[in-house]
Amino acid sequence: MMETIIGKIQKDQEKENRLIYEKAGQILRSGGLVAFPTETVYGLGGDALDEKASAKIYAAKGRPSDNPLIVHIADQKDLYELSCDVNEKALKLAEKFWPGPLTMILKKKDIVPNSITGGLGTVAIRMPSHPVAAELIRTSGVYIAAPSANTSGKPSPTKAEHVINDLSGKIDMIIEDDTVDIGVESTIVDLSEEIPTILRPGYITQEMLCEVLGEVRIDPAIEGSLKPGVVPKAPGMKYKHYAPNADLAIVEGQMEHVISYINDAAAKKEAQGFSVGIMATDETKNLYHTGEIRSVGSRNSEASVAHNLYALLREFDQMGVQYIYSESFSTNNVGQAVMNRLIKAAGHTIIEV
Ligand code: AMP
Ligand code: MG
Repeated sequence: MMETIIGKIQKDQEKENRLIYEKAGQILRSGGLVAFPTETVYGLGGDALDEKASAKIYAAKGRPSDNPLIVHIADQKDLYELSCDVNEKALKLAEKFWPGPLTMILKKKDIVPNSITGGLGTVAIRMPSHPVAAELIRTSGVYIAAPSANTSGKPSPTKAEHVINDLSGKIDMIIEDDTVDIGVESTIVDLSEEIPTILRPGYITQEMLCEVLGEVRIDPAIEGSLKPGVVPKAPGMKYKHYAPNADLAIVEGQMEHVISYINDAAAKKEAQGFSVGIMATDETKNLYHTGEIRSVGSRNSEASVAHNLYALLREFDQMGVQYIYSESFSTNNVGQAVMNRLIKAAGHTIIEV
């Protein structure tokens, strides 16, 4: 176990904050690991061009080595350092959505080690908008490879305490600043082939990308349930992921049927001696009668559900519930990303009522 330094970014503490960035920069330049907030989730960063650093990322997370890492940059020009094919579409998207929650897949240059691309000839690149992430990348002077800062398979971290729970003692430093806003990982769009393809839904939706590029497809493997034999193009999307310890089921149908199904199911499980969590919404939480009832947000705001989703899954873990029943949510806007993550977290258990 190593000692993990925790540096908390605070308003109006210029000098102290500067010291945190300096320390983090030193760690990154010497091949160590620093977790930091972004606008999507916390990332676990290491020098993207240093194979030893990326090996440490895989080890700390317990991440399969074929699951490539996203490289984070602070300046649009850095695209040319990492990719040999910065095409027109990439420039248009960068202009419109960077800095922000959009990752682009492009053909890679040789300086990008195969070990961070899972052996693929492409590299995933993002320029985050979170001020702490941007400042860290800029001042450290390295391109930062950063997957989500969670143990592989668990819900992604949206608060420093989540990172501390998963990675304390395994990484050099955690920069704390609980202003992670969006709550689900970046949209990934593959621009390395003819038709731009969304490999992972996120805050930037297909409609938003279409407005800039015209035609944009969604990788059929990530729409709805995974069909046997259909392999997603983003290697990471094939794993069970984002999952709480409890057995999670999504209940779908007319709202009153959903509520009565969940009330019955929860009562039955409790009668058998199990503890049950219910993922409800502001509008429905008072309609449940038993179990640990929590609202994940408002049915009128997909963004509120995205923001709270992972934190609530982790809260259920901390409470030690054995079964979770979740309502199903709108797939408008960032709701598509929410349902994509929730379905994976549930291991595709969807109960239609
Ligand atoms: P995370 O860092 O936890 O947000 O996961 C990164 C995601 O990006 C995973 O689903 C990866 O499979 C995907 N990814 C990274 N690089 C590539 C690439 N070159 N081609 C396709 N998917 C990628
Ligand atoms: Mg992840």
